[in-house]
Formats: sequence, structure tokens, C-alpha cells
Amino acid sequence: MTEQIVHWADGAPLTGSPTGWADVTNPATGQVTGRVALASEADAAEVIAAASRAARSWGTTSLARRTQVLFAFRELLNARKEELAAIITAEHGKVHSDAMGEIARGLEVVEFACGISHLLKGGHSEEASTGVDVHSKRVPLGVVGIISPFNFPAMVPMWFFPIAIAAGNTVVLKPSEKDPSAAGWLAALWQEAGLPDGVFNVLHGDKTAVDALLTSPAVQAISFVGSTPIAEYVYETASRHGKRVQALGGAKNHMVVLPDADLDLAADSAVNAGYGSAGERCMAISVLVAVDPIGDELVARIADRTRTLLIGDGGRDATGADASGKEADMGPLVTRAHRDRVGSFIDSGEKAGAKVVVDGRDVAARGGSNDVAEGFWLGPTLFDEVTPDMDIYREEIFGPVLSVVRVGSYDEAVALVNANEYGNGTAVFTNDGGAARRFEADVTVGMIGVNVPVPVPVAYYSFGGWKRSLFGDTHAHGTEGVHFFTRGKVVTTRWIDPANRPEGGLELGFPRND
Ligand code: NAD
Repeated sequence: MTEQIVHWADGAPLTGSPTGWADVTNPATGQVTGRVALASEADAAEVIAAASRAARSWGTTSLARRTQVLFAFRELLNARKEELAAIITAEHGKVHSDAMGEIARGLEVVEFACGISHLLKGGHSEEASTGVDVHSKRVPLGVVGIISPFNFPAMVPMWFFPIAIAAGNTVVLKPSEKDPSAAGWLAALWQEAGLPDGVFNVLHGDKTAVDALLTSPAVQAISFVGSTPIAEYVYETASRHGKRVQALGGAKNHMVVLPDADLDLAADSAVNAGYGSAGERCMAISVLVAVDPIGDELVARIADRTRTLLIGDGGRDATGADASGKEADMGPLVTRAHRDRVGSFIDSGEKAGAKVVVDGRDVAARGGSNDVAEGFWLGPTLFDEVTPDMDIYREEIFGPVLSVVRVGSYDEAVALVNANEYGNGTAVFTNDGGAARRFEADVTVGMIGVNVPVPVPVAYYSFGGWKRSLFGDTHAHGTEGVHFFTRGKVVTTRWIDPANRPEGGLELGFPRND
């Protein structure tokens, strides 16, 4: 039976008058499990109006009350995260442990936002001028729009909405149409946590829904995460309509392995970061830069490990579990079209002359109760001798494909990282503290790992790349997130003290401080 997935506005499901319905599939079986409504302009207007109505009262609700709701949401989410993980696996395909990891990283941001009363404290200066005090404060924006990608249906929205809501804004979330159900589940959870109706809303759809958010005068800010061409479009369109925008785009993350590195740690890390979540992570490692002379040895160790990976349905109850009940390491890709696109990159890499060390096109996915032949499978693929002119180097593949580029020196490795149009994440593997320190200073990338392949910052720091990986200047969560979802006010005050009355009188010059 297919489920109908509809919008959420004013604390209740809303079907509206969709322009159409998009199929939602279970990538492990290829079966259509749901149909998601694609919002019309009228539907978008109705959902935005619900958020606008709630904005006034939520923005003036006491910090104490807002914090209580945040804590209640955190407790509920923590208690019921298995339910959410099952939804993520069923629509995205990532394995259960990976879905739980995604939720844990989202929970971190909720926990950070529980401290909002501290984060919103302003400054105060007494006697800034004679008899004059100054204080600053940060106030909510109103309605904010969040547009998220398929690859983290829970975590990426949670990079933004806990802070936006805690700071007193109301939210319209437009999730990916490929795995939309997590958003509705989260909306119902907010209601259970005591969030007033209209504060958290979900608008499903495609470009029509996105454009409505980007152009509506009621929406004050847009947080977008997705591919670079759409991020650029969102940034330009929403800015033109007077909104503040943070638009996080694609990536091509390089992991540089220096000759003195621990090669077992580097090989494990390359496999985990290259093939975790089937490579569908914006912080996945897609290029490994091996600095001579360790290339042969490193490629051999990665290939050995890659061949041990178990590919299969990531759901916990997948009946295809082997005798030991081992969970699959890697699930399917999100859609058939995406699997085919990644497969065609492998064809193109081979044709261009890169060496196919491990070929994912020959994948044998572990059988489940369902027809595995219909799932969107592709195994881990390892290319060696990749050069920067090849498509597999230049394009963001967003699949389980790791390309090894050989270079002769540290300087060549850094030049490669810095010449790339993206600047999301990078990592260096070395036992030389001085080299690591130099790397940190040399690379033009936003997030850097030292012997850490996926350096996603903890919630109280901010997440964001450089160059064509981010449009706008504000990164997600941490103090930059609080800043993004609030506006500053500075108040200069003079109260008349009868014992020390100012002289007054007419003075048309620019006010001076003395
Ligand atoms: P996508 O750009 O296709 O979609 C992102 C969102 O934009 C979705 O909600 C989608 O419905 C909407 N959208 C798609 N086409 C649109 C159009 N023409 N006009 C308006 N809206 C449109 O991205 P995706 O495939 O869902 O996600 C994968 C991409 O996201 C990868 O490029 C990945 O690197 C990137 N990503 C980046 C980060 C980061 O932090 N930088 C994090 C996660 C994912």
C-alpha cells in the first residue's frame, strides 16, 4: 500500500491542491512506498500564512517557555529515535547505524539550542556617555524557510530549525521529495513537545514550492543545502527578494596522505569516508591524494578492505542478515536514476584511462525478503591513476566511487586541493605535527581534518565550506547559526536624573560622546 505524504501547517496535515504527486521508493527493493504532494503556489501561500500567523506570539513567548519546549523535543526525539531511523533507512537507503548517527548529530544541535537564553544575551554598557547607557539585543526575524537535500533528511533540517525556533522564529521546511517522510514525523513530534501550532510547518514539493519560499515577502531568511547549481540559484533569487541567505552547495573532498602517515589508519579512514552512506555525503572523501612513494601500498590496503564490505538492505529487520546477523555496511543508492548516473561515471572513468581497481558495477547485494534485483545497488568502486582532467575527478559523483590521484610532493597535493572549485572539507593524514599545521594554514577549505577523514564540526562550532560549496557568508549552527536567525538592535538610553539634569538646550551638531 502506498502512503500519501502531505504538508503540515497550523499543527495538522494539509493536502491542499497539489500540482502532482511524486513517487517515493524504498531504494533497497525498488518498490514505491508512498506518494508525496507537490505543492501548488496556493498551497505554499497557505503554509507560509500559517507560519506568519504564529510568528508574532512565538517571537514574544518567554525564553523560559521556549526552552522548556526545546528540552521536551530533545527528550522525545532521544526516546523515539529508532522510529525515525527506520523511516530514514526505508526512504534513503542508508544502513541503520548510519541513520542513527545522523540523528545523533541532529540531536547535538537541539541540545545546543536548549541553551538559547545564554546565546541570546546582549551587551550592556553603563555611562557610555555622561548619563547615557547602551544595550544590545538580538530579536527573531519572523518566518524562515529551510530547503533540504535528500542525503540527510533529518540532520540537515536539524542544523537549522532547533536554533531558528529557539530564537523565536517560525519555520517552513521544504524537504527533498525523494525522502520526505522524516519531516512530517518531526512535525508531529514538535506538537507532542508542546510547540504551538504554526511554529513548525512542512511544505512538500519541487521548484514551485522552493520558488514560493524564495520570493514570498513574508519569508525573511532562507537556509538551503543541496547541489551547487541550485544553491547558487537559491542564493541569487532569495537575495534579490531581500532575504538573508545561507546556501550550502556541493563538494569534492580531498584526503591527502603524506608518506609518514599510519597507512592502516589512512586505509580504514578512506574506506569509511569514501563508502559510508554509499558516498552520498557532502563530507564524503571522493579523492585520495597519495604523496609518493606510498601510493601502491595504500591502494592495496584500501582495495583489500573494500572487498570485505557487506552491501545490502540497511533496515534492521532485513531478513537477509547473514548467520552472524551482521548489519550491512553499505546500502543502495537513493534512486534508480542516481544509481545509473553514478554507474555512467564509472564507465567514463574507465574509458578515460583510469585504472579500475575495484569495480562496483559487479555488486552482489545481500539478499533480503524482497526482490533485491530491483534495488538501486552499486558496490564500492576504487579508481587509481586518476588525473585532474577526467570527469570522475572534476564532477561531484555523490556515490561510492573513490579516486586516487598520485602526486610527487606536499606542495603538489596542496595545489590540487586549492585548485578545486569546491572547498567544503579536506583531511591530511600524517604523523608530522608541523606538516599538519602547515596544511591547516595552506588550504582554502572551510573544514579540515587532521587524521580525521570526515571533519564535521560539533554543534557549538559552525558548519560550512568555502568557494562554490557555500553562497552567503554564514555557516550553519553554532554561534553563526544564532546570528543568522536573529537581527541586532542597539538601544541608546538617557533617563533624566533630577539630581544630575543635563543642560539641554538646542544643539544641531552631530551627537558627540563626552
Ligand atoms: P538538490 O540540489 O537536487 O536538491 C536540494 C533541494 O533543492 C531539494 O529540496 C530539491 O527539491 C530542491 N530543488 C531541486 N531542484 C530544484 C530547482 N531546479 N529549483 C528549485 N529547487 C530545486 O540536491 P540533492 O540531490 O537533494 O542533494 C545532494 C547535493 O546536496 C549534493 O550536491 C551534496 O554535496 C549537497 N549537500 C551539501 C551539503 C553541505 O553542507 N554543503 C550537505 C548535504 C548535501
